[in-house]
Amino acid sequence: MKSILYMIIGIVFTLIILPMVLIFSCDIAPPNIESEEEISDELTIRVYVKESQKIEKISLEEYVKGVVASEMPAAFEIDALKAQAIAARTKAIYQRIKYGEKGHPSHPGAEVCNAVHCQVYKNKEQLERQYSKDWIKNFWPKIEGVVEDTKGLVITYKGKVVDPLYHSTSGGKTENSEDVFTAMAPYLRSVDSPYEKDSKHVESEIVISTNEFITKVNNVYKNTGLTNSNIADSLEILQRSEGGRITRMKVGNETLSGRNIRELLGLKSANFKITISGNKMVFKTRGYGHGVGMSQYGANGMAKNGYSFEDILKHYYRGVDIEVYQ
Ligand SMILES: [Zn+2]
Repeated sequence: MKSILYMIIGIVFTLIILPMVLIFSCDIAPPNIESEEEISDELTIRVYVKESQKIEKISLEEYVKGVVASEMPAAFEIDALKAQAIAARTKAIYQRIKYGEKGHPSHPGAEVCNAVHCQVYKNKEQLERQYSKDWIKNFWPKIEGVVEDTKGLVITYKGKVVDPLYHSTSGGKTENSEDVFTAMAPYLRSVDSPYEKDSKHVESEIVISTNEFITKVNNVYKNTGLTNSNIADSLEILQRSEGGRITRMKVGNETLSGRNIRELLGLKSANFKITISGNKMVFKTRGYGHGVGMSQYGANGMAKNGYSFEDILKHYYRGVDIEVYQ
């Protein structure tokens, strides 16, 4: 009797329960994966195109390819490009969350524009025109690869998508966000950026006449009282940020920031020294860009020294996680 009972249980298990378990587990798994893919494939971004003054809807991942190709030399190391891809994707999603349906106030209806104001985006055709067919052949697959390999990944701080500011070259140390912009972000802290030696922007120099400097300053700032006879005694650097950029500077009777002077003269950064000899002024700058967040040349240097994209992002953005956006 017992063996018949076992046989019946065995038959029931093999014919009914086992298939049910298999069907049940198969049934659950695939739709989940499919729907996840569907969602991330469907993510689109509204890009305001300055030249045509139109808004284009572009798949997020295609957009990221166009930003990576426009914002970083494609010859850079794979892990630097991956870090750039994640930063570019994060920036778009951050703005989408921040501005919602209305879009950015500077370009309503679109969360990003295709220019430096947000981050530069060019599509494949524009890149071919800007570079060459050969460039597309040599580098486009590399760009596609880094974007596909990091698909959906974004940078978060305590679960929230961050504003991943980045710049070309810090000049040795990055900046605290509040020293350059007004907002303090806990993940945008001043950190050392020791691997930038391949950047041609670490140190630069421009020479202008004292006359040109005085004219440019006085055109915008009316109360400096600067003249050729008092200029040598009228300039004094009062304060620098942790990263070395000038936060306060005496210019005659006014107090300006290094950024003010940078904008007036088109300097590469607000980290500079001035020397005056006769009627010539020499501005020696360090770095290129605002200096906040990831240094792109620093990222490439880190990648050359064996650091992964995750190491790079966690170095330049403090206390962050890298996770799939959902
Ligand atoms: Zn913009």
